[in-house]
Amino acid sequence: MPEAQNGTPMTASTLQSSSGHPRPRTLGELKRIPDFDPRGASRSVKNEIRQNLLRAIEKGEVLFPGVHGYEDTVIPQIVNALLSRHNFILLGLRGQAKSRILRGLINFLDAEMPVIAGCEINDDPFRPICRGCREKIATEGDNTPIAWMPREQRFVEKLATPDVTMADIIGDVDPIRAARGGRDLSDELTIHYGLLPRANRGIFAINELPDLAGKIQVGLFNIMQEGDIQIKGYPLRLPLDVLIVFTANPEDYTARGKIITPLKDRIGAEVRTHYPATLEEGMTITAQEAWVGRDANRKVEVPPYLRQVVEEIAFQAREDKRVDRRSGVSQRLPITTLESVVSSAEQRAARKGEKTVVARVADVYAALPAITGKMELEYEGELKGADTIARELIRAAVGRVFSKHFTDVNFQPVIQWFELGGELKLPEVSSASERYQQLAKIQGLMEHVGKLGVPDRKDAGAAGAAAEMILEGLWAHRRIGRSEERGFYAEKPKAVEQRERDVPGRPPRRQFN
Ligand SMILES: [Zn+2]
Repeated sequence: MPEAQNGTPMTASTLQSSSGHPRPRTLGELKRIPDFDPRGASRSVKNEIRQNLLRAIEKGEVLFPGVHGYEDTVIPQIVNALLSRHNFILLGLRGQAKSRILRGLINFLDAEMPVIAGCEINDDPFRPICRGCREKIATEGDNTPIAWMPREQRFVEKLATPDVTMADIIGDVDPIRAARGGRDLSDELTIHYGLLPRANRGIFAINELPDLAGKIQVGLFNIMQEGDIQIKGYPLRLPLDVLIVFTANPEDYTARGKIITPLKDRIGAEVRTHYPATLEEGMTITAQEAWVGRDANRKVEVPPYLRQVVEEIAFQAREDKRVDRRSGVSQRLPITTLESVVSSAEQRAARKGEKTVVARVADVYAALPAITGKMELEYEGELKGADTIARELIRAAVGRVFSKHFTDVNFQPVIQWFELGGELKLPEVSSASERYQQLAKIQGLMEHVGKLGVPDRKDAGAAGAAAEMILEGLWAHRRIGRSEERGFYAEKPKAVEQRERDVPGRPPRRQFN
């Protein structure tokens, strides 16, 4: 078999890319490709994906560009499913890149594929399954026109909802038309094809499979199993060639009765997705997805520690018992939060006429509307309110990031400054230099900004934002006090807690180990 320039075997699907050969436009031209092998041209979509995937692995290519943190977990399992020619399901919570992965499967298809021109179900020129194409080839023979289908058009996606019908997914029969035409009622010419037949020789993705009605699941199973289907009582034969992939929430999927057992049996692999395992992985995804590069004439800088805080909010929320774990906390939470942080800094800079601006912790609080809508709250959380929960998550996130940067740092002079009566109020809208001047008055504060990656402690924007982060961190650890209006002061002694512990007449609690 002759080799194309990139070393891949020359087939019908790779020929058009090698210059000098005109792309076949008819069945006859397609057959006349040198050393043409009709078995190669008619390989199934699963074999096509298998071969292209193996080639990509051998070349050491990135298999799913833009997907991070799944290199050692999810991706090897998907690869195994594809190499096994299995249909598979991704089980995961929202915002775990499930849709992105499924769309990424397109990359393992050939760049273009020959189809019989005009066929609604992308028939293989050498093995047409629809009556129309078979009749066309019978009359036109080698002159039957061929079209080339780009791989982007070979991915069909559907979000399952309870009102999705058999007609949507499989198709519908028009009995009146069938009767009028004097045709056999099982004749395909009377069918309006649904999404699945239109995905023939491609990939069909159904999102949230458990929401699909039971009888549609039965229909899917019959197509996957036998290539047979009944619509309105009419038997149809549709031996489709499709890779079928699904997504589902794991709890919905495993709940009894949500998925019919024979369909479950036909899904070759269940692959569990997950949230980023480390803060760094999460930050990589967020940095990739968030829109932070804005206008060229105003520069908004988000310091690394603040990006850590934004990401940590999502980590805290995923751990928080007051946040519903069944629905999860999407990666879209840190993404939209980061975008909102940038916007808040941008807005302040515009108001103050500043051309460069460094985002600060106050901007994270300003991003509250980007956080509250991304969490489903449990009853206890509902009682407290989304705003309160979100503020507590930010505070906890600041505390965690603060601890990472400041182990064994003595902040006693700063705390003392407040205990000696010092108070500080940072206005929402103020210039960087105004805030810097306020913060620089606090003894011992600016000398620690280097630990947050600020090389020049006289850089008003960067050092001011870092100093504010330190005060927020001390507040998060209850070393100093802070008002809702961002005024910092000395933490008052915890008198209330002390009193509760010494309630007279109550016997001391017994300790069990
Ligand atoms: Zn056809």
